[in-house]
Amino acid sequence: MIHKYKLKGYDIVLDVNSGGVHIVDDLTFDLLDYVQPPFDAECPAEAMDKLSEKYSPEDIKECYEEIVELYNDKILFSEDDYEKYAKYSVASPVKAMCLNIAHDCQLRCKYCFASTGDFGKGRKLMSYETGKHAIDFLLENSGDRPNLELDFFGGEPLMNFKVVKQIVEYARSREKEYNKKFRFTITTNGLLLDDEKIDFINREMSNVVLSIDGRKEVNDYFRVLANGKGCYDTILPKYQKLVAGRGDKEYYVRGTFTNRNKDFSEDVFALYDAGFDQISIEPVVGEGDEYALTMEDLPEVFAEYDRLSDRILENEKNGKKFNFFHFMLDLDQGPCAIKRLRGCGCGNDYVAITPDGDIFPCHQFVGIDEYKMGNIDEGTFNQEMKADFAKAHVYSKPDCRECWAKFYCSGGCNANNYQYMGDIRKAHKISCELEKKRLECAIMLKAVRMFGEKE
Ligand code: SF4
Ligand code: SF4
Ligand code: SF4
Repeated sequence: MIHKYKLKGYDIVLDVNSGGVHIVDDLTFDLLDYVQPPFDAECPAEAMDKLSEKYSPEDIKECYEEIVELYNDKILFSEDDYEKYAKYSVASPVKAMCLNIAHDCQLRCKYCFASTGDFGKGRKLMSYETGKHAIDFLLENSGDRPNLELDFFGGEPLMNFKVVKQIVEYARSREKEYNKKFRFTITTNGLLLDDEKIDFINREMSNVVLSIDGRKEVNDYFRVLANGKGCYDTILPKYQKLVAGRGDKEYYVRGTFTNRNKDFSEDVFALYDAGFDQISIEPVVGEGDEYALTMEDLPEVFAEYDRLSDRILENEKNGKKFNFFHFMLDLDQGPCAIKRLRGCGCGNDYVAITPDGDIFPCHQFVGIDEYKMGNIDEGTFNQEMKADFAKAHVYSKPDCRECWAKFYCSGGCNANNYQYMGDIRKAHKISCELEKKRLECAIMLKAVRMFGEKE
């Protein structure tokens, strides 16, 4: 399978199964419309006929031979070698956990997926006892995995800061005995950040996610307190201080864009201008949501991703660089076939725990009773559901099987699939279109960085 497209003057051909990216000339690009395996010795007459007005017969024949050579070298139309790995996609130890430490929040963001913090189940903080049980649960269910990931999430985790500190201390105190290493992340809305919390986060958290929507007017329309007031002026200086003290530890500012700011490259650059160089802006895609993007919005959104790519390249020419997370796709695909096939690991090697100790496949499943996997205090953990998530790979999802983006996207977001399509294995179309557009931009950016811009 191949995928070909034109962007920023480049003719790009992705060989899906080998992961090979070919920058080709116009003739090769056009000829690929007419030829595919099995290849004959001679270029098909139809191709010769159709292309003869634009190219000479000699050039077409030579190009055909080159295509056949690439095929013989297994870097064009290569065979799918991955399906055989799908059968190894079985339940694995839990290595990552999202700890919903606070089902409460001071903000009332208009697009909040968590019902403004309580996931529709009542405002609640996790107790230290439950937090300890969660750490024990992770240690005991992590098999021989030496590195464990723990994300403090909410609602707003800093509303339960005392327990965050206690849990970090407790987890560290058990590392030696279990021969494990914890890596902590926290996501915050920034309102409660002060010097003590900034010091703690910069010392203990390997990564921190700072929520902010870009331009002040965009942020303050969506990210409001209960009294309707926007939070931008309160959080921005705190984030700047935190990042300034972070050294080379990871962080990123994370924003959201909606159908109200389809010119979201302005928000990306507003964040860059505010001093951040690790930036993510995610689209709202919820079906029926007042602010969600729809299929009709896509042409405008795609044009904006193109504009963002152009602006990023322009910036880089002037020596200014930043990472935009959605363009940082792993084009080298990484070493692990299983990860490529099933992505985030939700419900299998990744779970979320609520303040009541309930286990869900991930933070976005929290509150969906049908997907409650068990409870850490009661010692229940639904292994059947875990095994089902382990098998939710690209070959078990009909749309993904045939999709050129499958080894980068890894089958999309199971939570979105469930919430908007009613089935974790049914691809959510608008999310797919956005994913594919971002991937096309990411590949193009790589080409421009390697070969320079086309005249
Ligand atoms: S900060 Fe997060 S949890 Fe709180 S309302 Fe906003 S999106 Fe929801
Ligand atoms: S979720 Fe969509 S984009 Fe991703 S692999 Fe499946 S069909 Fe392709
Ligand atoms: S299912 Fe979706 S929201 Fe949940 S961890 Fe995976 S990608 Fe994230």
